Amino acid sequence: MQVFEKLSEYRYEQLVFCHDKATGLKAIIAIHDTTLGPALGGCRMYPYRSEDDAVVDALRLARGMTYKAATSGLNLGGGKSVIIGDPHTDKTEALFRSLGRYIETLGGRYIVAEDVGISTSDISFIHVETSHVVGMDVTYGGSDDPSPFTALGVVQGIRACVEEVFGTASLEDRVIAVQSLGHVGYHLCRLLHEEGARLIVTDVEADAVERVAREFGAKVVEPDEILTIPCDVFAPCAMGAVLDDDSIPNLRCQIVAGSANNVLLEARHGETLAERGILYAPDYVINAGGLINVADELEGYNERRATRRVMRVEERIRQIIAISKRDGVPTNAAADTLALERIAAISSMERLHTGHPYGQPSRRRETI
Ligand code: NAD
Repeated sequence: MQVFEKLSEYRYEQLVFCHDKATGLKAIIAIHDTTLGPALGGCRMYPYRSEDDAVVDALRLARGMTYKAATSGLNLGGGKSVIIGDPHTDKTEALFRSLGRYIETLGGRYIVAEDVGISTSDISFIHVETSHVVGMDVTYGGSDDPSPFTALGVVQGIRACVEEVFGTASLEDRVIAVQSLGHVGYHLCRLLHEEGARLIVTDVEADAVERVAREFGAKVVEPDEILTIPCDVFAPCAMGAVLDDDSIPNLRCQIVAGSANNVLLEARHGETLAERGILYAPDYVINAGGLINVADELEGYNERRATRRVMRVEERIRQIIAISKRDGVPTNAAADTLALERIAAISSMERLHTGHPYGQPSRRRETI
């Protein structure tokens, strides 16, 4: 791999290779952009087939975090770390403490959190060696399960879309089809039910379906029916890439707004949705509630403040719809524009006032 070519493609700032023979640590920390603040992003542990695959994953995910933090109004940049290893067999205290020491050497330019394959107890080992950690256990001042906050953000995003399409932000009697009832899906159904929405739900787990049907009076359909069911809003809350050339023509909704990451198989599917007159709430904006909540730990976790900030997802989605109309582009492209415009504005301010390309993260406060 031509590493520097890869870094220059999307202007990555830094790629750190961490190797510790004694503990077996092979990890990569990717820092994409710290214009808005220190790079925050989870640590993923996965048995990558090759080192190139691990580098590509770290870079891709780090860049995604830059856009997510920027559109969420957070004073954070984007980063991600990956450990090459099997989370079922290769985890040790020494391995995570070793990674913690590497993170500490970055002096706060990168803040680690949980991601796929990593638990709160792994994070607590990292925390022994560095304070640049969020997503700690509640007993250590952590913010606990992010899913209810992600769901709360999704409801706000749905509200903004409903107002755009139907002229009223009320969710009363709106028909909302929720694909999957896991951590986020369950809380989403709870909140939508409280707002008077009519739910159509599915999941491959019978218990999850039975619980939501019983608690919220949801109508149940088979997993392969949910994408074609007539509804006002389709809320994908499971795996990614559910919207592609095959599924989009069969959608019978006016809005797509859910928590799943990478909902579109390819960016061009944003255009396909727009051509069909379906309003799409970009995934990394509408599902940012969990990130907004965990980032609050950096100021000493305060649930009320975090909740208030998550509620602003509604405003972000409105802004994106406005940019989409202004520029005549699909909403997924408009989300990228919102992120890049904010970064460009702050980056020119940095040069003007300090001449410092990265700013001084420690002085930053949340501004949204
Ligand atoms: P989860 O693992 O708790 O739940 C996933 C659910 O999907 C499970 O109930 C599973 O049975 C169901 N499922 C799997 N395959 C299915 C299929 N083919 N049809 C129907 N149901 C199926 O995950 P989660 O934490 O609720 O996250 C859901 C999505 O939201 C993921 O894409 C995740 O990346 C994204 N997300 C989650 C958070 C968060 O705070 N948890 C934050 C941002 C984004």
